[in-house]
Amino acid sequence: MPDYGHELMFGTFTTPSAKDPQHAVAIAQAAEAAGLDAVTIQDHPYNSDFLDTYTLLTWIAAKTSRIRVAANVTNLPLRPPVVLAKAAASIDLLSGGRFEMGLGAGGFGDAIKAAGGPDLTAGQRVDALQEAIEVMRSIWDTSRAGLKHEGEHYKINGLRRGPRPAHEIGIWLGAYKPRMLGITGAKADGWLPSWEYLKTPTLAESNAMIDEAAIAAGRQPSDIKRLLNIGRPAIGASDGAFLQGPASQWVEQLSELILEHGFSGFFFGGDDADLLRVVGEEIAPEVRSIVSKARAGAGTAAPRRSAVLSKRMEGIDYDALPQALTDRAIEPGDFRYEGVRHSYVWSGRPGLVIKPETAEEVSAAVLYARAQAVPLSVRSGGHGISGRSTNRGGIVIDLGAMNGIEVLDAQTGLVRLGAGARWSEVAAKLGEHGLAMSSGDYGGVGVGGLATAGGLGYLARKFGLTIDHVVAAEIVLADGRIVRVDKDNEPDLLWAIRGAGGNFGVVTAFELEAYRLGDVIQAVQVFDGTDMASVLERWGTLVEASPRELTSFLMAVPGNSGQGPMAQAISVYAGADRDAAAEAINALGEAGPILDQRAYLTPYAGVVAHPGGEHRGGSAVIRSGLVDHFTPEIAARASGLLASGAANLLQIRSVGGAVNDIAADAMAYPHRTQNFSMIAAGSRGQSDLLDAQWGELRPLLNGMYLNFETDTHPDRLLEAFPEPALSRLRTLKRRYDPDNVFNMNFAIGTEADEVQAAE
Ligand SMILES: Cc1cc2nc3c(=O)[nH]c(=O)nc-3n(C[C@H](O)[C@H](O)[C@H](O)COP(=O)(O)OP(=O)(O)OC[C@H]3O[C@@H](n4cnc5c(N)ncnc54)[C@H](O)[C@@H]3O)c2cc1C
Repeated sequence: MPDYGHELMFGTFTTPSAKDPQHAVAIAQAAEAAGLDAVTIQDHPYNSDFLDTYTLLTWIAAKTSRIRVAANVTNLPLRPPVVLAKAAASIDLLSGGRFEMGLGAGGFGDAIKAAGGPDLTAGQRVDALQEAIEVMRSIWDTSRAGLKHEGEHYKINGLRRGPRPAHEIGIWLGAYKPRMLGITGAKADGWLPSWEYLKTPTLAESNAMIDEAAIAAGRQPSDIKRLLNIGRPAIGASDGAFLQGPASQWVEQLSELILEHGFSGFFFGGDDADLLRVVGEEIAPEVRSIVSKARAGAGTAAPRRSAVLSKRMEGIDYDALPQALTDRAIEPGDFRYEGVRHSYVWSGRPGLVIKPETAEEVSAAVLYARAQAVPLSVRSGGHGISGRSTNRGGIVIDLGAMNGIEVLDAQTGLVRLGAGARWSEVAAKLGEHGLAMSSGDYGGVGVGGLATAGGLGYLARKFGLTIDHVVAAEIVLADGRIVRVDKDNEPDLLWAIRGAGGNFGVVTAFELEAYRLGDVIQAVQVFDGTDMASVLERWGTLVEASPRELTSFLMAVPGNSGQGPMAQAISVYAGADRDAAAEAINALGEAGPILDQRAYLTPYAGVVAHPGGEHRGGSAVIRSGLVDHFTPEIAARASGLLASGAANLLQIRSVGGAVNDIAADAMAYPHRTQNFSMIAAGSRGQSDLLDAQWGELRPLLNGMYLNFETDTHPDRLLEAFPEPALSRLRTLKRRYDPDNVFNMNFAIGTEADEVQAAE
């Protein structure tokens, strides 16, 4: 039997005695302090001298910070699997992914019956255990709809799944007899017997049965961790028996079990803090050192489970992934995959998601991805609309872990932002220093996608776009080089990434000059949109006439469910001068018949707070254009579009003001005369209607902000980058990315006749 290369785990096998309720907690804390990895608790719910194991595990998880917790092993007959799965997921979520599921069929039939449990034969209890494994895994798999289970022992009819645990909870079975060993091999993640009960079959025979069952079920033996309880270990004079002797004997015997018999975890009974200290401080480090040397010599790496291997996709050489990235890789069979496969508006099924933590790792990921014959997406916050930060069958480089926010100089406002940070986090952190940086209207958006394209935010008229404040960046180029760009280093590249950044590389960090700003005043005004054209026209005129401190976003929706059309303006006055703000906001109230309005003083961070959560994907059809003025003609066509049903939403953001103080050729984003950005959002089924209506509007528009447009057809390129910007970008593209590696966000190509697939 080989060493499988599993991570080693040393822990306790603790009694949940009710006589001294705090003792088990103290043992857990002593184990953590000694550097051990897990505290596991016996579960005998029929025992009147014992605390309830799951309550105790919760308590212990709350009183420790690092150590893992598990029941050893859970008495299934007295714990219905639905409740058990939810309890497990709850502890796992509350403890930050520290729960594992030790599970047993339930050995003491009479005691179980006495406690009101089911009257089952041993065989029936094993059947129930198989069902329970299926039920629990189904509850944890929230990627699918309601759960139906029509079993012999459990019947579930349409239960909503969840909660999803924080990590993939391993199911470790306490198994001794051939049938249970077979189930362990076929279905479990771990085998967890007690040394004292391993008689017939022997340890080696049991291991072989598990392996055989694993292979018969299409798995690998390494899919099942081998873990062992040792009920009464002793450190001291040797009597030759297993773990009854000096520390050196322990080291030898444990190392042999790992290297010769595939074991990787050991849980020690006795509830003795002194023994645990010796194990944690002397024995475990010695064993780890012996095993790691042996593994290095034999080239043994941590195994990939067969469930993961079976979901690998064509075109990606997974084995060629650089060693430095193996811990950063998430594959379709991995538990974490569900949380990284989609973006906010696009559904995806990538073959590999890499989450680097340094620029060097990004460089390695880019070079690796280039060698694969599949698409490459770059993701920061995953809120791309034009930018496809997920794909099907390709690779995603996800910068979510590179999310540092550093104030380099609180006086000048110089800040360094990791591309994976969210704008809500940036606003909160800068706010602590009395600084601010306008981003957009939604704090969940990532730094990378927005700061490479524009950034039309609530402070735009006063302070300009986000990119107007980018003074330097760190970029990984298509050839893997990591370069700093600023006014003295690669200034052309600095020009290009402020508007067309997605075409030139992976920006890992940005330096921006933030500005001083305390509280702001935010106002919400809701207008009756029966005469929507008039509201749009008047709102536009009033915004243009308002002081630069005021930036207003208007959202217009058609009427439905008996309610008429409405427009909601959310405006931010960049300052805390209530009188001046009230004057500006009241003036805007003249845009139409007001249905509701309110205003409040808030830190800027309050404007862009967001709740977080995983992306669920979808599909979007959005048209984007820039508007000089809301003339009667534009207002009429825009309101006509909304009334036609082609769009379910019009969103208009004021730009102008400070945005237009910048020269059109100062950076790749060239639109410096317009006062508004307008988008229309519709459904996929209605996209022809939307295009027909938008086509009527297009001649009246003046350019386009690419970050809101889902139609990435080359015709749109000239709207985003009117000449001479596009030619200059293509010249730079030939210099920095001649093979068009970065092509997922308005690919400019290297030549005029290159095309990118439209939506
Ligand atoms: C709900 C919502 C509200 C929004 N509100 C606003 C708004 O008010 N103002 C505004 O300006 N925009 C707004 N946007 C648009 C937003 O700016 C873009 O969608 C932006 O691309 C999202 O950035 P991200 O990092 O979250 O996206 P991602 O999906 O991670 O990336 C989008 C694309 O950007 C490129 N990219 C991402 N990171 C990098 C990087 N580090 N280096 C190089 N290229 C990179 C890639 O090509 C990628 O495909 C909004 C979007 C949403 C979904």
